[in-house]
Amino acid sequence: MAKPKVATDGLAGCAGCEMSLLDMDEKLVELLQKIELTSCPITDLKHPPEEGVDVGVLTGTVNNTTNRAVARMMRKRCKYLVAMGNCAVFGGVNTMRNFFDMDEALKRAYVETESTVNGRIPGSAELGKPIKARSLDQVVKVDISIPGCPPSADTIYFVLNELAEGRVPVLEGDNLQYD
Ligand code: SF4
Repeated sequence: MAKPKVATDGLAGCAGCEMSLLDMDEKLVELLQKIELTSCPITDLKHPPEEGVDVGVLTGTVNNTTNRAVARMMRKRCKYLVAMGNCAVFGGVNTMRNFFDMDEALKRAYVETESTVNGRIPGSAELGKPIKARSLDQVVKVDISIPGCPPSADTIYFVLNELAEGRVPVLEGDNLQYD
């Protein structure tokens, strides 16, 4: 039987969740006997393959139009969508800027910070346009949420292993942490 395919992708975050995934260390090797990782920090492929995957994992907040397109693409291309980390599950620290005018927030972050010299607000087609920061489930349907900032490597292993074994993971006890 073919191994279930798993793809990861990142929205607006700090990459701490990806580091936690890599922190599985030798358990990652064990997991790779059961799953095929298509796009992830190890393969350095950014997006899920067009033919789709069994499990899609997204980290980070939906923070701009590019993030939103990436979230929609992953939703379309996977059977189970996992929101990994507080940014994806709740919106995280990025949502703090929703309390401020967008232009003011961008100016404060990129131009006015005390340590900035000749700052400028970044803009490119790749970044897209900033939008109100949202958790993943405010944009697409999420099947499994793993809170934590970041979630522990053991919890990420538990979730991926359960899915690899054909079970829908239920997070409880030590696997359900919010810090
Ligand atoms: Fe970084 Fe925490 Fe957000 Fe993960 S949940 S991307 S570790 S800030």
